[in-house]
Amino acid sequence: MPENTQHPGSPGTAHIEFRDVIKRFGSNTVLDDLNFTVAQGERVTLIGPSGSGKTTILRLVMTLEELTGGYIHVGGIPLQYKESGGKRVRVPDKERRRTTQQIGMVFQHFNLFPNMTVRENIVEAPIHVMGLGKEEASSKAEGLLEKVGLSDKKDARPSQLSGGQQQRVAIARALAMDPEVLLLDEVTSALDPELVGDVLGVLKDIAAETDISMLIVTHEMQFARDVSDRVMMFDQGSVVEEGRPDKIFSEPEHQRTQDFLRAVL
Ligand code: ADP
Repeated sequence: MPENTQHPGSPGTAHIEFRDVIKRFGSNTVLDDLNFTVAQGERVTLIGPSGSGKTTILRLVMTLEELTGGYIHVGGIPLQYKESGGKRVRVPDKERRRTTQQIGMVFQHFNLFPNMTVRENIVEAPIHVMGLGKEEASSKAEGLLEKVGLSDKKDARPSQLSGGQQQRVAIARALAMDPEVLLLDEVTSALDPELVGDVLGVLKDIAAETDISMLIVTHEMQFARDVSDRVMMFDQGSVVEEGRPDKIFSEPEHQRTQDFLRAVL
């Protein structure tokens, strides 16, 4: 919560740690020696111009992108690469999957399975990845659908739902795995403006009711203000400025932050 001051983001309590992270796509260096941590239970929002590397950061945590250099740790466990005998070596897939199971991600374009019902979308991973029984997974799904306000849609197909409803299903699906980390990538960008409020409302409730660590990329500055403990302003793959949301939004120090906020607010 914004008024909560117990998330110092210090390395000792790091839930997510980026250490000397480099990411290149071909000759394009998107992240160049990036270092930051997210504390246990902390909500960190990444803001900055398009192309500054924000989505790449989330995709690296989800291991959807290959790390070019450096290390990312989640809960102290190396994600893609670890140091061993003074060398940087790949983490075996099985170990990696054990860590990524604790991470939920919600994407801009929902990514629901179109041929499954809402309930089937939500129970799929709990049954096949967590090994939950069908009934237990089903009752969990129903609880989550109630939380996101879609109890009456459990037998619908994604195509029968509005974008906002599909996104709330995607949120329920991510929560069904009991994630310790939630990555939110522009979750309202593809929605009609009148559908944005419901999705953000659900996320604010989750932020208030859980202590899931969150890394958020959003253009919704009011939402960033409401849920973040810390806001990091990125430009060209580097942190330009970071701080509490009231500070960043009300008294940004850097010219680049001021210019960016003037353009989006
Ligand atoms: P942001 O989220 O801040 O808009 P991104 O992380 O999406 O920025 O992109 C950062 C840079 O990485 C951009 O220059 C983009 O073109 C490049 N990029 C992202 N994904 C890929 C990819 N799969 N292949 C090549 N370049 C990519």
